[in-house]
Amino acid sequence: MDLSDIHHLLSERASAFLQRGTHDLFIDGQWSAAHSGQRLTTVNPASEAVIAQVANACPQDVDRAVRAAHRAFHEGPWGRMRPVDRERLMLRLADLIETHAQALAEVESLDNGKSAAIARAVDLNMAIDSLRYMAGWATKIDGLTREHNVPFAPDAQMFTYTRREPVGVVAAVVPWNFPLLMALWKIGPALAAGCTIVLKPAEQTPLTALMLAELVQEAGFPPGVVNVITGDGPGTGAPLVSHPLVNKVSFTGSTEVGKLIGHACMDNMTRVTLELGGKSPVIVLDDCDPATAAAGAANAIFFNHGQVCCAGSRLYVHKKMFDRVVADVADHAAKLTLGHGLDPGAQMGPLVSQEQMERVCGYIDIGRSQGAEVVTGGGRAGQRGYFVQPTVLTGVQPDHRVAREEIFGPVLVAMPYDDLDEVAARANDTPFGLGASIWSNNLSKVHRLIPKIQAGTVWVNCHSTLDPGMPFGGYKQSGFGRDLGRAALDSYLETKSVFIQL
Ligand code: NAP
Ligand code: MG
Repeated sequence: MDLSDIHHLLSERASAFLQRGTHDLFIDGQWSAAHSGQRLTTVNPASEAVIAQVANACPQDVDRAVRAAHRAFHEGPWGRMRPVDRERLMLRLADLIETHAQALAEVESLDNGKSAAIARAVDLNMAIDSLRYMAGWATKIDGLTREHNVPFAPDAQMFTYTRREPVGVVAAVVPWNFPLLMALWKIGPALAAGCTIVLKPAEQTPLTALMLAELVQEAGFPPGVVNVITGDGPGTGAPLVSHPLVNKVSFTGSTEVGKLIGHACMDNMTRVTLELGGKSPVIVLDDCDPATAAAGAANAIFFNHGQVCCAGSRLYVHKKMFDRVVADVADHAAKLTLGHGLDPGAQMGPLVSQEQMERVCGYIDIGRSQGAEVVTGGGRAGQRGYFVQPTVLTGVQPDHRVAREEIFGPVLVAMPYDDLDEVAARANDTPFGLGASIWSNNLSKVHRLIPKIQAGTVWVNCHSTLDPGMPFGGYKQSGFGRDLGRAALDSYLETKSVFIQL
C-alpha cells in the first residue's frame, strides 16, 4: 500500500498530519527546521514506502532545546504554577490524547508497523491512563517535618523538615517499539514533579511524538516545558544526554546504548533512569494446563512482534509436557495472520526496519548453525515489508547465542527442565533481569519461586501485564531505576533537608 492508497482509511487528523509531509522541531513552543537544514525520512515498514520527513536535529538544535527547557524551568510560569494547575494541564493533555487516540494509533501503526487496533487498545489506553495516574501525583508531593535529633546540640530549638523539589531539565530518549507510550512514561512523572523536558524519539518512529507536541501546544503548556527534537542517536541523542544543563536523563532502549548513556551521565553527575533489554523467562510448572501455558507463552513472545523489552523469549517447560506445550505454541505461531497494521485482520505486522528484520533473521540463522531445530517459522515472510515469521526454536543449549542474547523479534527459544531449583537457576543464568512469568496454580511452588527470580517484575499466569501504579524496571543489566508508580515520580525529585535553629 502506498501513502496515497491509504488516506481513505485514516481519520481526519492522521491524514492531515501525514499530508504535511515534512515536520519541524518543537522547541520553546514553536516549530522550526533543523539548524543544518537536514532531514531524515521515516518509512512504513509494511510497504517500505516513505511516509514523512522529519528534521535531523544537530548539536545547535539540542542546545537551543535544552536552553528553552532550562529557561522554562527557572524563569517561566511553570516553576511558579501551583501543583493543582500542573495537574489540570496534564489532565487536559490526557483528554486531548484520548480525543485523538484513533489518529495517534493510526500514525503509530504506519510508522512502526504494529496493528492500529492493538495500538489503540494497548499503547494509547496505557499512555492515557499513565498520564492521568501521574497527574494525580502532582498534588501529593510531600516532605516530612521531624523532631530534631542533632547529637551535638541537644538543647537547641530546631525546626527540621524536608522538601521534595523537581530535579530540573529532563532529557528523555525513547525507542521505537512503543514510541508514544514510552514518551509518556517519561513525560508524565517529569511534569508531575514540575520538571521541564526535551524528548528525543527514535529515528525510526518520530511521528507520534510530533503529534504529541501539537497536543501539548493545544493543552496550553507554557513554552519550553515540553520540547520534542527528532534526530538520530549519535547526532542528536548523544549531545542531548551529555548537555551540562540537563539534570536527569530517562532512557529506554538497548543495554549497549544504555551503558554509553550511563557513562555520559556520570561525567556531569546527571541523574539517570535506564530501562534496558531483557531475555525474560516463561516458566511452566508441571501442574499447569498445557493449553493455557501454550497460549500464554505464545502471547508473551509474539505480542508486538516480539519487540518488547520484557518479551517472554525463553520458554522453560517441565520435561513431562515439553513436547505438548511446544507443539501448541508452534500451532499458535503458525496461525498468526501477518499483515499491514491498518488491516483489521492482521494479528502481527512487520518488524520496525530492514535492519531489525535482518538482525532477527540473522539470529535465527545463528541458532540453526549452533544446532537449533526450527519447529515453525524460520525467516522472512514475503518479499515486501519487513515481515518475519513467528519462529520457535528447540534443541538449544544454555550457552547458545539465541538463548543468551536479546533478539527483539518473534523468536522463541524453548527448553525442557527437570526440577524447580534447576529452572530457577537457569532462569537467572542471564545478564538481564527485567521480567519473568510463572505458569502454575501450585501456590506453594509459585511462592517458593518468586523470591528466587532475579527480575524487576514477576507475573503469575500472565505475562507483560502493566499497571500505571506498578513500578517497572530491571534487575542486573536490564537497567537502573523504575518507570511507572510512585518509584518513577521519586526519580524526578530531589530531597532537600532544611534545619532552622530557632
Ligand atoms: P537503541 O539504539 O538503544 O535506541 C534507543 C534510543 O536511543 C533511540 O532514540 C536512539 O536513537 C537513541 N540512541 C542511540 N544511540 C545513542 C547515543 N549514543 N546517545 C543517546 N541516544 C542514543 O535501540 P535500537 O537501535 O532502536 O534497537 C537496538 C536493540 O535495542 C534492539 O534490537 C533491542 O535489543 C533493544 N531495544 C530495547 C528496547 C527496550 O524497550 N528495552 C527498546 C528498543 C530496542 P536512534 O534510534 O534515532 O539512533
Ligand atoms: Mg517508520
